[in-house]
Amino acid sequence: MKINYPIACIPGILLLHVMLTISVLTVKGQPVPQNKYGLPVVQTTAHYQQLVAADSNQALIDIAAYIPGIRTDIRYATADNFTHQVLYPYAAAYLRLPAARALKAVQEELNRQGLGLLIFDAYRPYSITEKMWEIVPDDRYAANPRNGSGHNRGVAVDLTLVKLQTGQPVAMPTGFDDFTEKAHHAYPVSDTMIAANRQLLRSVMEKHGFLPLTTEWWHYYLKTYKEYPLMDIPFSGI
Ligand SMILES: [Zn+2]
Repeated sequence: MKINYPIACIPGILLLHVMLTISVLTVKGQPVPQNKYGLPVVQTTAHYQQLVAADSNQALIDIAAYIPGIRTDIRYATADNFTHQVLYPYAAAYLRLPAARALKAVQEELNRQGLGLLIFDAYRPYSITEKMWEIVPDDRYAANPRNGSGHNRGVAVDLTLVKLQTGQPVAMPTGFDDFTEKAHHAYPVSDTMIAANRQLLRSVMEKHGFLPLTTEWWHYYLKTYKEYPLMDIPFSGI
């Protein structure tokens, strides 16, 4: 059946086309396509490389190579995480250049106090956030893919303090990915040493430009997170 659209509809169609075109987010002049939730997500290595060519701060840096002495225990590369599944093909810890630089300053400051950093997670490809949500669709435990996560932007990091000489983690209110009130910054800890450890991590991270998350003592993200698009590039594509 042939449908004849009235001529008056055509400008509306054109306007819709223009609106869809200009709604694509641009980062440093580079358009970022939207995913099924309407979120702009960088999805190809070629696109990521274009962003880096236009702005070196977009580069994801291997922090284990960049920050001397930093320790890693990338839980999502093992089954020792809240999903009980191996989600990463191998252990990797990448952050955007400004976040890596800030974390390096944190590590240097802690080293002067006989302490260091242990990283649990850093950049997380967006499709892994989707997979976590499939396993545990509850925003008390996992980031909702409709919003994305600072980890997908490469500017959030999960970490704790270790003793420099032994590499042993200091006592904190809970373990990593404990989704109870005990992990909240405001949770009253009676042990003064544990309270001091939590506060020391917070104060040194804030001093170097990171913001805390009220519900997770181990999660920090760069204040300028909005400057970095969500990414779905696998570690092997960086
Ligand atoms: Zn986190």
